[in-house]
Amino acid sequence: MQDQTVDTETSNLLENSKERMVAPETQLGEQFDQSLRPERLKDYIGQKEIKENLEVYIGAAKKRKHALDHVLLSGPPGLGKTTLANIFAREMEVQLRSTSGPVIERQGDLAAILTNLEPRSILFIDEIHRLNRVVEEVLYGAMEDFTLDIIIGEGPGARTVKIDLPHFTLVGATTRAGLLSSPLRERFGIQFRLNFYEPEDLKTIILRAASLLGIEIVEEASFELARRARGTPRIANRLLKRSRDFADMETSGVITLPLVERSLEKMRIDLEGLDQMDCHILETIIEKFSGGPVGLSTLSAAVCEEKDTIEDVYEPFLLLKGFLLRTPRGRIATERAYTHLGISGPPLSQVNLI
Ligand code: ADP
Repeated sequence: MQDQTVDTETSNLLENSKERMVAPETQLGEQFDQSLRPERLKDYIGQKEIKENLEVYIGAAKKRKHALDHVLLSGPPGLGKTTLANIFAREMEVQLRSTSGPVIERQGDLAAILTNLEPRSILFIDEIHRLNRVVEEVLYGAMEDFTLDIIIGEGPGARTVKIDLPHFTLVGATTRAGLLSSPLRERFGIQFRLNFYEPEDLKTIILRAASLLGIEIVEEASFELARRARGTPRIANRLLKRSRDFADMETSGVITLPLVERSLEKMRIDLEGLDQMDCHILETIIEKFSGGPVGLSTLSAAVCEEKDTIEDVYEPFLLLKGFLLRTPRGRIATERAYTHLGISGPPLSQVNLI
């Protein structure tokens, strides 16, 4: 009887959350994301090499009382790019202005932002690969010489006015560094690619979040969540929150290992951290395209998912885990994918391709 109640609660829970549990993008109602953001570099967990270099760059810029050089942060969503931009501002003790590529539609929008910056402040542009070309060209001068060329008037009477800008730091974040034009990319003096996190680091992130949110979790449970969080802090924090929901409904509220295992099963997250969509992509490649190679557009149509989403969100993790290969002829499911899904294969013809 009690089980039935719990199951109804559980399915309601899952039904209410229409979004993917392991989607690395911020989802509706994730205000907790903000409160969990580490504010200082010392609290930023993992990404050791990046952190060590940043300590030097930030320290040196502060010592010289200069703005930090422009920084480009790339990597899949949810790995901590926005968090780092916020940390730069705190560590440098300067103002932070945040916007995103698609929001800046016209040159005038960018001019308004740039002319209102304080000296040494941080301008954070998320999804910088989605800036339009005209706006991007204005940015070149602003980044290089801290000047802005504005055209006043129209037709033969039009003239260009050069405006001096305060020295600022542009922090650009992108999930697709390859889509940035080279003139823009070259203007970033500091460039980092964020990597997926190791389970040990994610465990620390989960324990930190649990303590901030007042959640009781046993250590093995935190490691199991970490192992299944796709190497992504945002997903780790989300799985923690969802597990708390299950813990509150089913037990005394303490998150234990059996509870984590049960709740992940109900959330349909498998032992490798793959969710239904990941499996659907692999199964489609195997069953509909004989294991591949299959082109991105064809795959996107077959699984009813945007090409960009497949490339930004699903593929990086499937590649990392060795379930997928990207070849010039298309995507191929690896032998590991067959084994994981319990499908016999891959066919001999495809083994040769791999
Ligand atoms: P991105 O901008 O790359 O999509 P965010 O910076 O928004 O990712 O990070 C998502 C969430 O993950 C943050 O709100 C923060 O709680 C957590 N997070 C990210 N990186 C770290 C880290 N290195 N240490 C602790 N928490 C982190």
